Amino acid sequence: MKRIVIKVGSHILTEDGSIARERMMALVGLIADLKKHSYEVALVSSGAVAAGYTQLPLDRKKIANRQALAAIGQPLLLKMYQEKFAKFGLLCSQVLFSADVFESDKHVSHAKVAIDTLLANNVVPIINENDTVSIEELVFGDNDRLSAHVAHYFDADILVILSDIDALYDKDPNCHKDAKRRAVVNEIEEEELAAEHTPNNEFATGGIVTKLQAADFLMNHDREMFLASGFDLTDVRAFLIEGVHKGGTLFT
Ligand code: ADP
Repeated sequence: MKRIVIKVGSHILTEDGSIARERMMALVGLIADLKKHSYEVALVSSGAVAAGYTQLPLDRKKIANRQALAAIGQPLLLKMYQEKFAKFGLLCSQVLFSADVFESDKHVSHAKVAIDTLLANNVVPIINENDTVSIEELVFGDNDRLSAHVAHYFDADILVILSDIDALYDKDPNCHKDAKRRAVVNEIEEEELAAEHTPNNEFATGGIVTKLQAADFLMNHDREMFLASGFDLTDVRAFLIEGVHKGGTLFT
């Protein structure tokens, strides 16, 4: 059985400051299909701060407010997921990590037992960084690198990042009309890893650089990453279910 980690960005899960319910439903439908095709799936999901903001519009520029919004939004987000997974007869679960979990072998193996047990019982783990208690300097700050750690330490065959962009391009396609898609990437240049963060959305914290850092980490550990659109799931479905690489970028 193939184990995959899917990471979905906040831009996909939010629309006008609220949770984008239709896109969340499409994502849950994809996961249900993948499970029918013998995949074990864990989901790394952002969206807690955005979900909290729908209930209490605090100024998100302040760290304290983001901590509070994450605390308000995380249970709301999970409730929405629970309702949607229930439509497919599936159970989901909440797993919150702080980045320092990955600094201790003991903590990692302890957490892996829980993840393995959830997956063995057909339950979908929904993983997020515990933004309420994480200290700014220590955290990943974006779920791209967190999901790369999750994929590696919990032994996934591949990390799938569903983004607002449908692939990696040779330059930012939102600024350059002639940007070309890179279908397969085997190596990432040092300067690409150090470039400025370019999040494209007020809730996004990563940008393309953290995706490249995630891919670099996984490739250095002999694992793969696939970057595809989270707005239109055609490419990721084709790649994972039909085994056809139409769109998206495979880092291998
Ligand atoms: P998400 O919220 O889905 O994690 P982000 O908005 O953080 O995604 O990052 C994706 C954005 O990165 C794209 O919308 C695009 O504007 C920008 N970007 C910059 N350079 C590139 C590139 N070479 N290829 C693809 N996207 C790029």
